Amino acid sequence: PMTQASAKDLVVATDTAFVPFEFKQNGKYTGFDIQLWEAIAKQAGLKYRLQPMDFNGIIPGLQTRNVDVALAGITIREDRAKVIDFSEPYYESGLAILVASDSPIQTAKDLEGKTVAVKIGTATVDYMKANVPSAKLKLFPNIDNAFLELATGRVDAVVHDTPNVQYYAKTAGNGKVKVVGSLKSGDFYGIAFPKGSELVPVVNKALSELKSNGTYDKLYETWFGKKA
Ligand code: GLN
Repeated sequence: PMTQASAKDLVVATDTAFVPFEFKQNGKYTGFDIQLWEAIAKQAGLKYRLQPMDFNGIIPGLQTRNVDVALAGITIREDRAKVIDFSEPYYESGLAILVASDSPIQTAKDLEGKTVAVKIGTATVDYMKANVPSAKLKLFPNIDNAFLELATGRVDAVVHDTPNVQYYAKTAGNGKVKVVGSLKSGDFYGIAFPKGSELVPVVNKALSELKSNGTYDKLYETWFGKKA
């Protein structure tokens, strides 16, 4: 579906870097969100082209209708649901802390007065402002730059979505980082659309079919292992 995009193909926005949901591997985007959308598009017969962009641009892109659909581990929130539409939830998530392996930091309280790298426009920024106002936030459009900042010792911690920091620690952390302090759970990701999009029921139907026919579970296992 990604070849020979026509002007009428749906523009499907994803984040530029959010392992293991969307990331570039050998010059091509892959990940749970990418493959889930591939399956949904196939199921519903939708043509599309992917448009990776910084997370911060995605909700505005939907609001201006430059983007038709977005999958970027987008947390369903009431404030967002006022300006965009969401599919049924497709993934349960939360927030966690990533620190150097020898760091004493373990909880949100330990982040007080510390320098913390976070990603612009994400739920983490709001969480930190509300719960750890004394932390100094270093804002990055791309979480990979936040991880680099931690690796080079310029910040005390990165706070971001739990599955993302866990996957990063496991695959790229080289044993130099660890995930601590589960700050939050019970967040849900949804596929996002411009308000009133006719695609919402179409995508929800395909999603529910993929859940019943085992495709969703297979994809889940590929990227996250067996469900506990
Ligand atoms: N779940 C986070 C949010 O919605 C962002 C995830 C991401 O960085 N793509 O704010």
